[in-house]
Amino acid sequence: MKTHAQVVVIGGGVVGCSVLYHLTKLGWKDVVLCERKELTAGSSWHAAGGFHALNSDPAVSRLQAYTISLYRDIERQSGQDIGLHVTGGLNVAATQERWDFLRADWARHRVLGLSTELVGPQQIRDLCPLMETSGVFGALYDPMEGHLDPAGTTHAYAQCARKAGAEIYRHTRVLEIVTTGRGAWHVVTDAGTIETEHVVNAAGLWAREVGLMVDLRLPIVAMEHHYLLTDEIEVLRTSPREIPLVLDLDGEIYLRQERKGVLLGVYEKSATPWCVNGTPWEYGENELLPPQLDRLTEALDKGFKRFPVLAETGIRRVVNGPFTFSPDGNPLVGPVAGLRNYWLACGVMAGFAQGGGVGLTLAQWITRGEPDGDIYAMDAGRFGPYTTPAYAIAKTREFYARRFQIAYPNEYWPAGRPAKTSTVHATLRTANAVFGVSYGLEVPLYFARADEPAIETPTLRRSNAFDRVREECEAVQSSAGLLDISSFGKYLFTGPRAAVALRRVLAGRLPAVERIRLTPMLSATGRLMGDLTALRLAEDRFLVSGSGYLQTWHMRWFAEHAAREGVEIWNISDAYGGIAIFGPDSRQVLSRVTGTSLADTDVPFMRVFEADVGFAPAIVARLSVSGELGYEVYVPSGFLQTLLDSLLQAASPGTRMVGLYALNSLRLEKSFGIWSREFSRDYTPHMAGLGRFIDFDREDFIGRDAALRDRELKPARRLAAFAIEGATAEAAGYEPIEVDDRCVGFVTSGGFGHRVSKSLAMGYIDAAVIDARSDLYVTVLGERKRCQVLSAPAYDPTGSRMRL
Ligand SMILES: Cc1cc2nc3c(=O)[nH]c(=O)nc-3n(C[C@H](O)[C@H](O)[C@H](O)COP(=O)(O)OP(=O)(O)OC[C@H]3O[C@@H](n4cnc5c(N)ncnc54)[C@H](O)[C@@H]3O)c2cc1C
Repeated sequence: MKTHAQVVVIGGGVVGCSVLYHLTKLGWKDVVLCERKELTAGSSWHAAGGFHALNSDPAVSRLQAYTISLYRDIERQSGQDIGLHVTGGLNVAATQERWDFLRADWARHRVLGLSTELVGPQQIRDLCPLMETSGVFGALYDPMEGHLDPAGTTHAYAQCARKAGAEIYRHTRVLEIVTTGRGAWHVVTDAGTIETEHVVNAAGLWAREVGLMVDLRLPIVAMEHHYLLTDEIEVLRTSPREIPLVLDLDGEIYLRQERKGVLLGVYEKSATPWCVNGTPWEYGENELLPPQLDRLTEALDKGFKRFPVLAETGIRRVVNGPFTFSPDGNPLVGPVAGLRNYWLACGVMAGFAQGGGVGLTLAQWITRGEPDGDIYAMDAGRFGPYTTPAYAIAKTREFYARRFQIAYPNEYWPAGRPAKTSTVHATLRTANAVFGVSYGLEVPLYFARADEPAIETPTLRRSNAFDRVREECEAVQSSAGLLDISSFGKYLFTGPRAAVALRRVLAGRLPAVERIRLTPMLSATGRLMGDLTALRLAEDRFLVSGSGYLQTWHMRWFAEHAAREGVEIWNISDAYGGIAIFGPDSRQVLSRVTGTSLADTDVPFMRVFEADVGFAPAIVARLSVSGELGYEVYVPSGFLQTLLDSLLQAASPGTRMVGLYALNSLRLEKSFGIWSREFSRDYTPHMAGLGRFIDFDREDFIGRDAALRDRELKPARRLAAFAIEGATAEAAGYEPIEVDDRCVGFVTSGGFGHRVSKSLAMGYIDAAVIDARSDLYVTVLGERKRCQVLSAPAYDPTGSRMRL
């Protein structure tokens, strides 16, 4: 065994072997893998081996498609048979809502370059004669889906890696991971110690234990999962071709052919966590759990109705095995703040659909410093300290039980709530707020009327919130709205070198004292890493604010790139709450509470100052995402209630509390982009229209060279805002934008602009098409609508109302 390696991968399941393979593929040869037993000895060996490219997150879909595209290569390169069956797959809809959802998905696949098809009941029966299609509306057919031999595939990755120089140590259990104090790690195994620069936790069912070796608590829970293998079925014995993989989305089962019988898998509602207090080290290697068939009765009943032949077919074998889930079902990939070169590749629920993408992403990150595109959906940095074990169990159970349910864009699932509340939560609740969740925190979406239940109906179309949001927007336009913005991310940079640190991470100009500036943050390759607001409170003290759910992500970046001697960086997002007040009455209302003049001459647009607001010591910033005159007031969380009370007491007659839905509508009318929609690591500042905020006169910020190149090259696609004609539902994201039948872009977000009475959206469109002002079409829920690119914001194009 080597005593030194550049990377030690812990875990020889499909994920660890894929990471090892991709490291060698990207040119790193001094890499090793430790496996405590034989390869596949965790959950990999007993997987059903199904794979598919479809995922609710487009970036994950892309990586799943990549995984599938790898299979023939690794089979050829390794010489290892992987039992590949590309059968195609049917995602079946038996409700109108599901059918709408699949049609919307199908349109999105055009953007992702996936060639899926919508098929009717007759075509479904032709492809899968076992299926009873009564009540079925149709299915989405994906020719890329299929199944494979899980052990063969894992060994194929391993074999390719070995051929490229990697070493694999079987029967070598990692016992400890100790920092050397010199920027490296000692990986202590039962066969000796390896000194290494990088450690990868790909320990699957034992990832939590390998996390604890460096005092890291991972929000991962293993769940029991069953599938049944049947005896031979006559129609399959005689059929010349295999049936496709079938996901009966409304029945919560999946089915594929296995030899001349079928494999039927079940996501039962009574999701059962396994070994929540830790996975025993002795578990594994061809070990399964006792089958619990009584838990499957309801799902099997549905399955037998959809596939009647199964009711008369013998069951050859029942498999019950555990595999891991994160709270949202996506993997945990990437680095961890404070643990230099300790990497995660775990919590992978669909290793045979996602393993290749996870391996590629992590290998890019380790070898090149960052992954190629936006992979936030599987970045370990998307979770925060609210993911306690109880939260992780509640959320993973919920995810498992709802695995095939429609994820509505306006639905926030109930498990693990409320985990965290702002200090004005009770007041908001009394005012009949309907809440969503952001980074574990309950956030107000809108306010129902007093005589209505505070419940929004999950839908792909306009919900019962529509009229209430309109009323909130009207109040903002005519009087003022008060919004709890405690969820915003807030970071304090202090110390003599605070400005130097910020000049390194922020690409924009730093504000003068008591001024505010919007600024992008870039990666070394010039990708967007943040759209932040820098508020300078003093020469050596800055408040930086951004999207609240990015706290772990941003703090990890700051720790890596901004932390240096002479600067302290504090995440004060929980310690400080905030109320935004916007609308023409906001100056008058706020000045009644501050008791001072807020006249434009004293407090101009983009000014920040510290003052007492009523009883609360506050930071008052004059800025507004709403497009109206507005202020954000931040106070220590204990003062938030008194701040809200005093603002409500001073309020003008039309002032009312509003929610984040109203803010989304207002910002779309101003064509203001937001993170994860218009802005992400997929885009560069010049694509996103943020180039004007970059201070190219400075040479000291990360990503400058790449951003310069980006400016000179002129991006082929640009962000644009547009209005959709005759819409009855709003665009939700990733709908294709077309000229004639040519896809020329895609939507990033959509919503109804109540002040302008238009369905609005933003999206990336081919620059030539924007410049030519061609007629565009967007397909929303299967309906093709004409749309018009806006050359200026739909509301108050000159921005005069913000500067009143
Ligand atoms: C019944 C069932 C059906 C499934 N069907 C499918 C399917 O159809 N399609 C699909 O994509 N996925 C499926 N899955 C999920 C799939 O099995 C997992 O996503 C995948 O196996 C995860 O792989 P992994 O490498 O992350 O973890 P694991 O397979 O658990 O591998 C982790 C490895 O790390 C080793 N290890 C742990 N700790 C140490 C240590 N300290 N030192 C050394 N080695 C260590 C373990 O021995 C193990 O071999 C199914 C799972 C189950 C249970």
